[in-house]
Amino acid sequence: MLNVDFHLHTTESDGMLTPEELMRCVATAGLDYFSVTDHDTIAAYQRHSDVFAPHRTRLINGIEVSTVSGEREVHILAYRCAGDGELTTLMGDRPALRRARVEHIVGKLSGCGVAITMEAVQRHARGDVLGRPHVARALVQNGYATDVSDAFARYLGAGAPAYVASTTVKAQDVIAAIRHDGGVAVLAHPLRNDAEAEVERLARCGLQGIEAFSPSHQEHDVDRLRSLAAKLGLVKTAGSDFHGPTETRPRPGVTVERAEIDSFLELCGRSSGGRGHAS
Ligand code: AMP
Ligand code: ZN
Ligand code: FE
Ligand code: FE
Repeated sequence: MLNVDFHLHTTESDGMLTPEELMRCVATAGLDYFSVTDHDTIAAYQRHSDVFAPHRTRLINGIEVSTVSGEREVHILAYRCAGDGELTTLMGDRPALRRARVEHIVGKLSGCGVAITMEAVQRHARGDVLGRPHVARALVQNGYATDVSDAFARYLGAGAPAYVASTTVKAQDVIAAIRHDGGVAVLAHPLRNDAEAEVERLARCGLQGIEAFSPSHQEHDVDRLRSLAAKLGLVKTAGSDFHGPTETRPRPGVTVERAEIDSFLELCGRSSGGRGHAS
């Protein structure tokens, strides 16, 4: 068995832990392989390379890219993409675009009688990439919501009054750019996206894998995703979408049979040595 997690966030996007704190957590959890996949940024890798250096044998570079597919928002995990390829060009200046989007959200909130300033939102962010969780935390702090989930339900989620989509860049274009750059394109949290139809569509666009294993998946979900991956020739990955310790999930990590993720590791240039540990 392996203990892995290919979906982790830091304070460079909307995670609660700095890269350094996250690496301590990763060490405590004893992860065999992992990836930091901040939303729309590789700043963690660029600004904290010294923090990651001791972990490089276990680390696969990653980023979680927000995209749209039809009417839906779809998150594509890109592994092994450096910051200078087609993906970077296609994404444009995401920090600036995200700031403009949060300004739009703050404007909509004001229209709902919710007086939150950009400064209040900014206080909850430690990196350049602003997101709805930062707005949600400001809403909670100012008494407009009981917790982050409540803030999404009342104001920020799809269909709520202050909802603003995060991007117009298409999933198929992001997948093509990742493939062009020699990266590996994986659909994050596939159950959120009406799995079957969406995965089939994206597989035709060059998607290579799905996040089949997650602590939030029931056994029957995993069975369904495993069959789907086999049918479409996709690799399976494992990720918890860790944003920091919570009561129910104090640590990152997903336990999987090595055979389940061998194909993914191979695509990432980490061919199996048949050992439990990478280093
Ligand atoms: P954004 O990238 O700004 O669109 O924000 C998306 C992030 O918000 C996700 O990655 C989650 O971390 C968080 N999120 C989305 N929906 C919810 C929700 N209903 N409750 C709590 N957090 C959420
Ligand atoms: Zn997030
Ligand atoms: Fe996501
Ligand atoms: Fe995520």
